[in-house]
Amino acid sequence: FPSKFPTLATTIFAKMSAMAAEHGAVNLSQGFPDFRPPQELLKCIQRHIDSHTHQYAPMPGLPTLRQSIAEMHRRTHNIQIDPDTEITITAGATQALFAVIATLVHPGDEVIVLAPSYDSYVPAIELMGGKGVEIPLSSDFSLPTLEIQKAISPKTRLLIVNNPHNPSGKILSAAEMHFLENLAKANPHLIFLFDEVYQHIVFDGLRHLSAITYPELRKRAACVYSFGKSLNATGWKIGYIVANEPLTREIRKIHQYEVFAVNSFMQAALAEYLPDFDPSVLVTHLQAARNYLQTLLSETRFKPISTQGSYFQLYDYSEISDLDDVLFTEWLVKEVGVALIPISVFYKNPPKNQRIVRFCFAKRNETLQLAAQRLKNL
Ligand code: PMP
Ligand code: GLN
Repeated sequence: FPSKFPTLATTIFAKMSAMAAEHGAVNLSQGFPDFRPPQELLKCIQRHIDSHTHQYAPMPGLPTLRQSIAEMHRRTHNIQIDPDTEITITAGATQALFAVIATLVHPGDEVIVLAPSYDSYVPAIELMGGKGVEIPLSSDFSLPTLEIQKAISPKTRLLIVNNPHNPSGKILSAAEMHFLENLAKANPHLIFLFDEVYQHIVFDGLRHLSAITYPELRKRAACVYSFGKSLNATGWKIGYIVANEPLTREIRKIHQYEVFAVNSFMQAALAEYLPDFDPSVLVTHLQAARNYLQTLLSETRFKPISTQGSYFQLYDYSEISDLDDVLFTEWLVKEVGVALIPISVFYKNPPKNQRIVRFCFAKRNETLQLAAQRLKNL
């Protein structure tokens, strides 16, 4: 049978985690914590396992969970979201992204993607017959405003924005959000997909400016979230989409035939837990982990690139090696015993001579220490 993607490789996360296991390396590649989700949440899930009916959830998600999510956004951003018509529970953010892209992208449509970008966007766009138009972010990972404006054509259907940004940890400023709002006003045919999976993970007292809080964007955006990230439980694969009523109606047409509904007892448990969820506990923990990694590596020739949020810290390794980042990370995992992510895989056209790798610091101190010990003589 003909392959739909003859040249598409296996995702870097599967590749690096498999190599880490094979070579007994410390795995700082794929973005997942090696500490447990909150104990209260685990107890709550256990109670629901014991009492739940264990049958299908309603197609858009349990009403109680959608209400808890709307309430959480009201608490954090003082915004009203209608849980019945504007929230859909998904199998993680990956399925949410896929459902939104499948809903909006028609054959021949162009989608602007800001590189480096999360690896699932472009394959989903291409599967729908669309074209990913890659615009590199500026060298400090801020929005390249002129280039974005120039790239918008009558065929541009969608602009995908990831904030906080994976892999750089960059958070969009008020001026950048204002630019996007003006872009929406000036281009009535343009729709936005905001990937805000790291919405809670913001450091140094900064604030995440959610697209939902900007009326012009909210009218024309789908926003995607993941409980995996906010609850230290990436294996649960539960997320959600916030979009206005007409867009949600269309997204659900796709969602119902992609998965129909998501794990029901987990939804019931999350609905009960969310009113007690305090993101500041997670933020304090992860900020300390980021700082600890920076301290541990300060004696090496890895040069940190500032990170403001997410699980990730980029490092420039050009003083250590001339290898390109794919070869460098393959060498590191095999010979040094530390698995990292080469960021060139997040581009269609990676910048020449960029020597940058991504560390995931959502790890226990012992894990970071072990990695640093292995890296200290580089
Ligand atoms: N978007 C970004 C930017 C991510 O880093 C990830 C990975 N966690 C996802 C989407 C997918 O999230 P999930 O694991 O909930 O599918
Ligand atoms: N989002 C995670 C990362 O960036 C990985 C998700 C996955 O494995 N697909 O590392």
